[in-house]
Amino acid sequence: MALKDINFNDIKDAAKDVAEKVGEATRDTVEKLKRKDILTAPFMIEMIRTATNMYDHGWDERNGGNISLMVDEEEIAKYMDLTEVIREIPTGFDAPTLDGKYFLVTGTGKYFKNVQYAPEVNLGLIRIKDSGRTAELLWGYADGGKFTSELPAHLMSHAARLEVNPENRVVMHCHPGNLLAMTYVHDLDEKAFTRTLWQMCTECIVVFPEGVNVLPWMLCGTNEIGVATAEKMKTARLVVWSQHGIYGAGKDLDETFGLIETAEKAAEIYMKIAHLPLLNTITDEAMWLLCDRFELTPREGYLAPRQA
Ligand SMILES: [Zn+2]
Repeated sequence: MALKDINFNDIKDAAKDVAEKVGEATRDTVEKLKRKDILTAPFMIEMIRTATNMYDHGWDERNGGNISLMVDEEEIAKYMDLTEVIREIPTGFDAPTLDGKYFLVTGTGKYFKNVQYAPEVNLGLIRIKDSGRTAELLWGYADGGKFTSELPAHLMSHAARLEVNPENRVVMHCHPGNLLAMTYVHDLDEKAFTRTLWQMCTECIVVFPEGVNVLPWMLCGTNEIGVATAEKMKTARLVVWSQHGIYGAGKDLDETFGLIETAEKAAEIYMKIAHLPLLNTITDEAMWLLCDRFELTPREGYLAPRQA
């Protein structure tokens, strides 16, 4: 081929093309290298520690219990490419206000005791879309699994709590023994149940001044119990599932764990003393003093009016 036959413009275009592709690949590689290992993310470490701690407390036998933690997009973007969806999983319910939100959720059938050893199998990170009807899996459920069967109760509770407190991030469910036992022997009226818990430890009214709400026994894993739980979550961060366990909600894993821990301690005291003659208690007047001291408003109508 003679020199005059060579089209230098073609060569220039091809070279430009190659340069662009190399640039793109380099940018991709740099982005990937900048991303950190998600197992080092503070939210992941806290989730693993919490699941382990709950198991160690005896609240999550076998595959009992589930946790969902809402995580901000900016936080997740430090660890992964948000456009890479592993698979889509239908949720089977509507939660229109949660579209675009990200949740780290325990897997269905998974054991809390195993979360620390294989987080990528026992946890999953999902993004909600289609008015809540679809979850996009971005990380986890590595054995082909999916989120907890209680996702309806979790997501509906998140939506309900976010309406009350935009800082809410956690919904947690477990089976603490004493609270569960109490639902067999105590009146399930919410005011009566709350007042008993408040009377069992001085800190109770301080930790949950709004009290606890109570659901009768219902079939778990259904949208119906999800709707009922979310409705109860509008007025309290703790919802007892009679003869089953408890749901807690809060702004972080510590607060939510602490709520359940405090209610469970109170239930433990109740189960220790319920069969004994009661000689002393925390009076309503004493509880009003606690409310003053910690600047709290107790659930309306739950304490006897103050004496003048
Ligand atoms: Zn359960």
